[in-house]
Amino acid sequence: MSNIQVIPHWINGKRFESASNNTAPVYNPATGKHIADVALANQEEIDLAVASAERAQREWSGYSVAKRQAVLFKFRELLADRRLELAEIITREQGKVLSDANGEIGRGLEVVELACGFPHLMKGSFTENASTGVDVYSIKQALGVTAIISPFNFPVMVPMWFFPISIAVGNSVIVKPSEKDPSAQLWIAELWKEAGLPDGVFTVLQGDKLAVDGLLTAPEVQAVSFVGSTPIAQYIYETAAKHGKRVQALGGAKNHMLVLPDADLDLAADQAINAGYGAAGERCMAVSVVLAVEPVADELIAKITERIAKLKVGNGADSNEPDLGPLISAQHRDKVRSYVDIAETDGGKIVVDGRAIEVPGHPDGFFLGPTLIDSVPLDSKAYTEEIFGPVLNVVRVKSFDEGVALINSGQFGNGTAIFTNDGGAARRFQHEIQVGMIGINVPIPVPVGYYSFGGWKASLFGDAKAYGVQGFEFFTREKAVTSRWLDPAKHGGINLGFPQND
Ligand code: NAD
Repeated sequence: MSNIQVIPHWINGKRFESASNNTAPVYNPATGKHIADVALANQEEIDLAVASAERAQREWSGYSVAKRQAVLFKFRELLADRRLELAEIITREQGKVLSDANGEIGRGLEVVELACGFPHLMKGSFTENASTGVDVYSIKQALGVTAIISPFNFPVMVPMWFFPISIAVGNSVIVKPSEKDPSAQLWIAELWKEAGLPDGVFTVLQGDKLAVDGLLTAPEVQAVSFVGSTPIAQYIYETAAKHGKRVQALGGAKNHMLVLPDADLDLAADQAINAGYGAAGERCMAVSVVLAVEPVADELIAKITERIAKLKVGNGADSNEPDLGPLISAQHRDKVRSYVDIAETDGGKIVVDGRAIEVPGHPDGFFLGPTLIDSVPLDSKAYTEEIFGPVLNVVRVKSFDEGVALINSGQFGNGTAIFTNDGGAARRFQHEIQVGMIGINVPIPVPVGYYSFGGWKASLFGDAKAYGVQGFEFFTREKAVTSRWLDPAKHGGINLGFPQND
């Protein structure tokens, strides 16, 4: 019998050992070691989780605004105090370097802080005397049970784009984390309990497709927030919508950075490195293509190459922190490496080749070194598909217009950036580009908590982006009330006509 730990669910306010006998392995990507197994829910466990979330929601939505707000403030305080513990869990299972894991928590905290101010964003409106003696007003209410299905690359921040707001407005939440790094959400569940959240309002359901499908079809689940790859996002969108749910499904990306000849090339090279290789390129807002408007390509490539030579790749948990860690799995590392092979076969020039990297002391880690490719052909899969690794393609274009047309021709529309000192060009760029999040001399333009996060085209299925005002819209529904309190002195009489305002 193996004595490896099985990571449980969190149902009804406690750890829940699965009886499914079905598990998936969890690795430390830096060492390549199998460190735990995660439970994969069976139908009975899905039903239990949903039933407990439904019961709890009825109680929670009856809490006063002040009481709910007190729980949120307490959660925020605990998380801010203890975030380093959580960062260590992220690094152990996801592989990103510790400071980056801590940064991910910081961006999640922004949404917790936004949610603490929920009473303001949940206010309805009131019109006195809309018709004679008639008042009209609106009330915002919670939806019920809401589900979050999240990807491996941000095991804390991505669920935190959604659950603080959903919980604040009075919903219950079931998080289905990625099977690859499932522990962070269990830690968060314990923190919610400590903050005073009633049992069952926050549930963690570990699992694979079976758990996801169970949530997509359960009649009690009112809304689904998904983040992951585009084919699964589309599946989630269609299936959840077919089952009558509100759904927002964020998909993949292929983000371009356009560098104009007047740009500060040192700034552009620094930012290409940060956005291309940070988190080993496993960010949906990572830059994977640098569009260099000639004549800057040679100089920019030289500057990027110089900087790559100084990057350290290693175990993100080391006290002497490297710049980037491993990829999530051996399989994903091999897939990313195969895109470099494809680029080479298709005629791209490999300027810096990370395929043969060796990290001392970590022979079994899932590492790939930063890779730079010049002039990958535009019909190569290495250009058209999302790679999701530390691979940067430089594509040479002749003009601003050619660059914009290329960006707009892609299937994705998540993020993009322009590097220039020409304000007019930047303004034209923001107007013409078919992308949801834009950086101007900023490479990873993840909007702050009080704006909303989401792409266009195949990067977002559904109408609502994550967090910000759109997050509140997504997790609440409105009632409009038309009310007449009769003046005892007057009488309305019978009128079969359609109500008119007078
Ligand atoms: P993924 O699509 O493989 O998995 C995401 C979630 O879906 C996981 O919880 C997984 O268990 C579940 N899932 C996987 N296959 C399923 C299936 N057939 N049916 C039902 N559920 C299924 O994504 P990933 O590999 O974990 O994450 C990387 C992807 O996420 C990249 O494409 C990246 O661009 C994208 N991403 C997008 C954003 C964004 O904001 N647009 C943010 C982060 C990551």
